Amino acid sequence: MARPFLLLDRDGTLIEERGYLSDPAGVALTPGAGEALRFAMERGLGIAVVSNQSGIGRGMMTVAQVEAVNRRTEELLIQEGVEIGGFFFCPHHPDDRCACRKPGTGLALRAARELEIDLLRSVVVGDKSADLELGHAIGARSVLVRTGYGRETEAEGCYADAVIEGLSGLAPFLETWTSRPAGEHLVNRHLEESARVKLATRDACVPSLLEAAGIVAEAMRSGGKLLICGNGGSAADSQHLAAEFVVRLSSTFERRAWPAIALTTDTSILTAFGNDYGFERVFARQVEALGQPGDVLLAISTSGGSPNILRAAETARAKGLKVISLLGGTGGALRDLSDAPIVVPSRSTQHVQEAHLALYHLFCGLVERMLYPFGE
Ligand SMILES: [Zn+2]
Repeated sequence: MARPFLLLDRDGTLIEERGYLSDPAGVALTPGAGEALRFAMERGLGIAVVSNQSGIGRGMMTVAQVEAVNRRTEELLIQEGVEIGGFFFCPHHPDDRCACRKPGTGLALRAARELEIDLLRSVVVGDKSADLELGHAIGARSVLVRTGYGRETEAEGCYADAVIEGLSGLAPFLETWTSRPAGEHLVNRHLEESARVKLATRDACVPSLLEAAGIVAEAMRSGGKLLICGNGGSAADSQHLAAEFVVRLSSTFERRAWPAIALTTDTSILTAFGNDYGFERVFARQVEALGQPGDVLLAISTSGGSPNILRAAETARAKGLKVISLLGGTGGALRDLSDAPIVVPSRSTQHVQEAHLALYHLFCGLVERMLYPFGE
């Protein structure tokens, strides 16, 4: 039966960081390592080492030297009463783009298959962002140690399920976690990251959000309409916002219907145009057909680079529409095509989409308050 493991980084985590260590005489366990790993074993966790050894690919050391260092590490751990299930290392140069180098999952998944590891109940411990990202990628918990390069990694702000001084600080977390439901950390991590992105959005997006709401309020006041487009989840968002405009946002605020059209809903237009001309202008064509000066196009793209959204924005500008946008990451090329680009400061598509939902609810509410300060 699969069981949980501690998947440990080697240099800077399990043993002192020496910089491309090739001499077994240089191996020293980090403070408290033996005691922490004995504690883990008593709680039913197996122990394996998952390590990037690019010194091999860089021609600075041999596979035999890495194995000798691993053997010496194992000797010292055996003296401490600790049993290692396996040493797994990637010998490649970073430029090789192999699947095994952390944060790639190849090594850890090989370890998981060979040792029958229950990844959802396992813990990756390391001092670099590659270790934390590996833990996230395989569904395990990620723990950052402040030994090795840990303080630099902490300053970069990469998400960790826990940050500890060194392996000596691991026991309290294992004590808690072994009694918690498997997968709980995935829930915590997603919701905490989602909340963090929303707070960063508050800090970054208030001026552009107010400007965009002002542009749409002016369009609604003067008889214009709102056209909305996006792909995938953003297509669903387009429909969602169009519904708020045409129907209502809240049962506590009644008002007249507002003209908003999601360009993502007419399957006959989308398939006819896609089939006859291709996908890139499916929205641009509808902007051409429906857009009038005084209207507004809302373009939704988490990357800001989707070609069909860019073509729609270009067509809108050419026809005298204002363009506002809900974006993520750097904002991409859409940023420069927008009169009011609202850029969520995150590279995670999921978290950007979650922030977009909050933003367009807000956006609809802002337009209502701008047009009907005393209610209608
Ligand atoms: Zn590799």
